[in-house]
Amino acid sequence: MITGKTKLLGVIGYPVEHSLSPLMHNAAIKAINNQKNQQNLIDYVYLPFPIKPEDLTTAIAGFSAIGVQGFSITIPHKQAIIPLLSEVSDIAEAVGAVNTVYKIDKGWAGTNTDVTGFLAPLKTYNWDWHQKVAVILGNGGAARAVVAGCAELGLAEIHVVGRSEDKLRAFQQSWLNSPLPVNITIHKWDNLSSLITKADLLVNTTPVGMYPNIQEYPVDEAMFDNLSRGAIVYDLIYIPNPTKFIQQAQERGAIAIDGLEMLVQQGAAALELWLKESVPVDVMRRSLREHLGLTD
Ligand code: NAP
Repeated sequence: MITGKTKLLGVIGYPVEHSLSPLMHNAAIKAINNQKNQQNLIDYVYLPFPIKPEDLTTAIAGFSAIGVQGFSITIPHKQAIIPLLSEVSDIAEAVGAVNTVYKIDKGWAGTNTDVTGFLAPLKTYNWDWHQKVAVILGNGGAARAVVAGCAELGLAEIHVVGRSEDKLRAFQQSWLNSPLPVNITIHKWDNLSSLITKADLLVNTTPVGMYPNIQEYPVDEAMFDNLSRGAIVYDLIYIPNPTKFIQQAQERGAIAIDGLEMLVQQGAAALELWLKESVPVDVMRRSLREHLGLTD
């Protein structure tokens, strides 16, 4: 229920209509209140804010003026928001992007919960990560959170595969002065067939296979045969669910993780920051699964 005291949370992006965040955050807020008595209710609503790049500074000043408590950030503002913040966490600095902003005394603080989101399903496997090798497909924004996550786990080797030598080199160099010690090896796609044989963790961070191009997949079927049976195959894409990439992995006995849990867990980490209390991750997960027509 919206009252005279309702506090605002939201997501900024452009476009933002596709965002599933309002659905999952409002479901969590409602569930938290269902567990509380009348005196302790939390009075928040989470809204989508479509903000054009040229309006970002004005919009954030407006957020301060109207007392917005915190917000998520999606494309195209994840880097552009940084100069507007008073504080940026080490992890957001390492990733080079902010996806969550919260209020502090002197203004706004930014962090990046994508790394937490990416790591959450991996941490359920009790692996000795220091012995493991990661192969990451793509070198865009999401790949940065994945590399930071792999570095945090302490993987023995982190290989990044991309299409453009220049972009790969720039990607590698960008970690040199990072607050997180990251040592990656870069490769063109031609190298993938030899790389894949040693991958313990194979992560797709490209949009290949994402709706509506659901018949596409980033790794040739024949190449998949070289993947070791116990490997984890992780696709950051969550629509469709499963992707072709995930289906291929499952058919070959690999452990498959789709992008939905990362989405849920990055959102849960953000909501905990804003509300300063634990949040019902199961409700957030269920709201998205129901919305996407997925059965448990
Ligand atoms: P991005 O910054 O645009 O990066 C995309 C990367 O994929 C780039 O390295 C790009 O290569 C590469 N790529 C694009 N098309 C390709 C193709 N046909 N073949 C080979 N490589 C290709 O995008 P992003 O923000 O990293 O997002 C990537 C994907 O991750 C999207 O599907 C997004 O939905 C998903 N994602 C999921 C979550 C989650 O919570 N589950 C979070 C973030 C992102 P070039 O650099 O050569 O163009």
